[in-house]
Amino acid sequence: RASVGPKYLSGLNPEQREAVETLDGPVLVLAGAGTGKTRVLTTRIAHILSQGRARPSEILSVTFTNKAAREMKHRLGQMLGHAVEGMPWLGTFHSIGGRILRTHAELAQLKSNFTVLDVDDQVRLLKQLLQAENIDEKRWPARMLAGLIDGWKNRGLMPSQVPSGEAAMFANGKGGKLYASYQERLKILNAADFGDLLLENIRIFREHPDILRQYQQRFKFILVDEYQDTNVAQYLWLRLLSQAPAARPSQHAVIPGQAEGPNAESGDESSVRDSGSAPSAHPGMTVAAAPHTKNICCVGDDDQSIYGWRGAEVDNILRFEHDFPGAKVIRLERNYRSTGHILAAASHLIAHNEGRLGKTLRTEDQDGEKVTVTGSWDSEEEARGIGEEIEQLQRQGEKLNEIAILVRASYQMREFEDRFVTLGLPYRVIGGPRFYERAEIRDALAYLRVINSPADDLAFERIVNTPKRGLGDATVQTLHDHARKRRIPLFEAARAVVETDELKPKARGSLRDLISQFDRWRAQREVTAHTDLAQIVLDESGYTEMWQKDRSADAAGRLENLKELVRSMEEFENLQGFLEHISLVMDREGGAEDDAVSLMTLHSAKGLEFDNVFLPGWEEGLFPSQRTLDEQGRAGLEEERRLGHVGLTRARRRAKIYFATNRRIHGTWSTTIPSRFLDELPAANVEITESKGGSAWGGTGGYGASRFDDMEAFGSSYTTPGWQRAQANRNRGGGRGGFEEEAATFSSSSSAGPDFGSFSSRRR
Ligand code: ATP
Ligand code: MG
Repeated sequence: RASVGPKYLSGLNPEQREAVETLDGPVLVLAGAGTGKTRVLTTRIAHILSQGRARPSEILSVTFTNKAAREMKHRLGQMLGHAVEGMPWLGTFHSIGGRILRTHAELAQLKSNFTVLDVDDQVRLLKQLLQAENIDEKRWPARMLAGLIDGWKNRGLMPSQVPSGEAAMFANGKGGKLYASYQERLKILNAADFGDLLLENIRIFREHPDILRQYQQRFKFILVDEYQDTNVAQYLWLRLLSQAPAARPSQHAVIPGQAEGPNAESGDESSVRDSGSAPSAHPGMTVAAAPHTKNICCVGDDDQSIYGWRGAEVDNILRFEHDFPGAKVIRLERNYRSTGHILAAASHLIAHNEGRLGKTLRTEDQDGEKVTVTGSWDSEEEARGIGEEIEQLQRQGEKLNEIAILVRASYQMREFEDRFVTLGLPYRVIGGPRFYERAEIRDALAYLRVINSPADDLAFERIVNTPKRGLGDATVQTLHDHARKRRIPLFEAARAVVETDELKPKARGSLRDLISQFDRWRAQREVTAHTDLAQIVLDESGYTEMWQKDRSADAAGRLENLKELVRSMEEFENLQGFLEHISLVMDREGGAEDDAVSLMTLHSAKGLEFDNVFLPGWEEGLFPSQRTLDEQGRAGLEEERRLGHVGLTRARRRAKIYFATNRRIHGTWSTTIPSRFLDELPAANVEITESKGGSAWGGTGGYGASRFDDMEAFGSSYTTPGWQRAQANRNRGGGRGGFEEEAATFSSSSSAGPDFGSFSSRRR
């Protein structure tokens, strides 16, 4: 109330206020987590509107997720005291790019009702192209090509701009040509993929300066959240829009488009080469430095750049002052989100990264509770422990909405989802489908359902041609006709149809093989453990192989999910019991509850905040992830550490880290080593606690606080006897046998001893 000016400004600190009120010229807010960057952006829009500097439709505001966009709209309404009239351009890069593309679809040889393809459609299309080109899909999988094309699009590269060295990476140099014919096919199908939503914008802007000018004039203010995670295409798009409109159409912005064919002359390639060595320009960027930039405000935090693996370039933020001359850079140092201990732990962790801008973060909050670190025996105990802690928090009056579990890998969610269903605890999965709703899990379940119930037509139809075995729509139609006529299930119809000559010989042979596989699996069911059977089915059906050959970014995650599925079956007596449980889980209305625990990956937690944050799975190999370390080395490790920093800084009042000593990674139980990131936490801000879920483990004498007491809060202390023993047991035998053996070793030092006899039955 003390400060003058509109009410929405009164709560801001001087630096925030400066960022809100500096409306003219480029502004960069470079500041750490929880310092109010997003709040500054929202307030800035309110300020622009209430000062009458622009109408809603003249403001372009880019958020990282659709959820964040909705939230911003909501906040804006609150600040202004009324709903915003007119349509502000508030959304993700893709949603705004899509909106612009629909308006000018004809310039991209599309109709305004074009479809946006998902990855599966994309891959299907590429497969057709590979077949037409006689390219061996075994050697050159369509998904690999999809990944390459995605990467090129993220970097703003049209087919004619793909550096020849990269085009050579696929099918002996055919990559670029395939990319071009893919683009042509998309036009014929009146379709665009995700990358096109921006890339086609960029092309239209460059080829039609009049249209670009129209948008440059329209958008009087541009605002961008999470700027540290923009990729090259997003950057180019922003640069084009953020220039002051040119007086005359400028010629240099015009580049040849795909309309000129895949082999369009190498005019652009020279620009690629020219800019290749200059760190300040991106390949494919032909826009000269803008003489005037207008009112663009970007906010970000280099310590929260976590999408490098998807083409994001943290350089974009580091280069802002160069790109937007005269930019005002504002730093915010007060964190309004987290209590002292949490902030100290997060800052200490990220300080282990090299090559950061470095920044001060302080809070005027209380120290609050220390960050807790809890070791559990295995991931199941971890889930049980967290479940109990959540129930306890609930009893203390905490709202479930204020509780989040942030995992490194999506397969970790399964255990929590199962636990929550058992406890009747409402939860929602943010940023992705729930575990059992994932495509690969549904596919696997469909196989098991057909084994369990041959009359399950939906399941049969789902997998009859997954993986592809030449049983396409025509075959399925024939089966349907038969089934309807004779009123029998599809599977029975299939059995009948293979005895006729209705199908082409190839399809008939393939269907016959499938039927006999199912017959064999059903027979095996009697003599094989259901978990082994599931593995056999996934392997023999070719389903596992389908994903193994897949080179897309998410294939490895899908394989992990499948392993996790098989593993989750261990908790049930048999296949029937497992499938019944699944139908219960699937039956739950997802996300309908008002008050629910949030479950998500660390990546999707960006920008969010919760009073209570659980961070399970801090173990070497899982977090930091082994794959990232293998593929990206030191840069990968630093990105993982930033991910840890993002996780910790989501918490307002409580941050609870967990690690398990035994986890099944890639299908094999192994004794894990606590994450190196635990070592990097400051002892003064961390409390080592005992798992509350350790009923099977018997509380204190076992694997509890006592063992950590001599760890000196994570000095270089993994050499204490407890850890030596844990490591000695590492990798002793895979599979459950090895696991039980280890359990026995541990139980000798435990007063109560684990009840692992019941491990294979339901323990709830
Ligand atoms: P992140 O980097 O995680 O995205 P951020 O910098 O965007 O964080 P915000 O989400 O905008 O930070 O703000 C963090 C929290 O602090 C929010 O709850 C916000 O409402 C609150 N906050 C920000 N500024 C102030 C302020 N001046 N006074 C009171 N609360 C504030
Ligand atoms: Mg934010």
